[in-house]
Amino acid sequence: MQITLWGTRGSLATPGPEMARYGGNTSCVGIVGREGTMLVLDAGTGVRRLGATIPESVRRVDILLTHLHMDHIQGLGFFAPFYRPDMEAHIWGPGSVTLRLRARLMRYLSPPLFPVSLSELPCKLTLHEVPCDDVDIGEFRVASALVCHPGPTVGYRIAEAGGSVMTYLPDHEPALGSSRFPGLPRAWTSGGALAADADLLIHDGQYSAAEYPGHCGWGHSSLAHALDFGTLTAVKHLVPFHHDPGHSDIELDRLLAEATAETKPAYRVTPGTEGTVFAL
Ligand SMILES: [Zn+2]
Ligand SMILES: [Zn+2]
Repeated sequence: MQITLWGTRGSLATPGPEMARYGGNTSCVGIVGREGTMLVLDAGTGVRRLGATIPESVRRVDILLTHLHMDHIQGLGFFAPFYRPDMEAHIWGPGSVTLRLRARLMRYLSPPLFPVSLSELPCKLTLHEVPCDDVDIGEFRVASALVCHPGPTVGYRIAEAGGSVMTYLPDHEPALGSSRFPGLPRAWTSGGALAADADLLIHDGQYSAAEYPGHCGWGHSSLAHALDFGTLTAVKHLVPFHHDPGHSDIELDRLLAEATAETKPAYRVTPGTEGTVFAL
């Protein structure tokens, strides 16, 4: 599979010359399988550029939303394939205990917040509630599970038939409520089963170790926690992601260098920068 990072910023789109290298667009990752199946992980502002690259020959796209915070759905209305009548579009995402996914998304995709209602999109749109049983989408097997973050939030584990595994946990605080993190077995750690032995893990690394205590319970990890989680789950490659809007390129270089020097992970670490492509 080929994985492209279209938006790596957390919380709020953050354009500016001091952010140009890591990028200012919010969470969005594109995946294309060996047989051409196209998955989109989250629809932050980065999804607009991804949508513009999808050729006319592609007739189906599946968007997998981890949750409905604005930084993960704000680009939905600007995703060009939604405006193609010949496009079969599927949105997967969590409902809540009181509202279905459709009703939750309509809060944003309807006036006055957005001029076009979800029900008016020209494409053939189907919505699916997660978490659900493992599901096959083209050549991919997709697993989803609730993880530790405010409001209903899932992570995804995406396996290519006979091939590689990638795990996506962009908003995740596995250390919350566990004074022993990362000391518990991974089966008892939020996200542990999703990430186990993954070839590539894209994981929340929003805060520095110094910032985390002031943001405990906000649903995000420190870079040190992300690295510890990668060790606990025995991943082969970690991509710290969902960078804090207050961290410039220079600061992110420093924070990532300090965290990896401290933790000395036994696996590869590549900072999440917009435009990076991974081939698994
Ligand atoms: Zn987020
Ligand atoms: Zn969030």
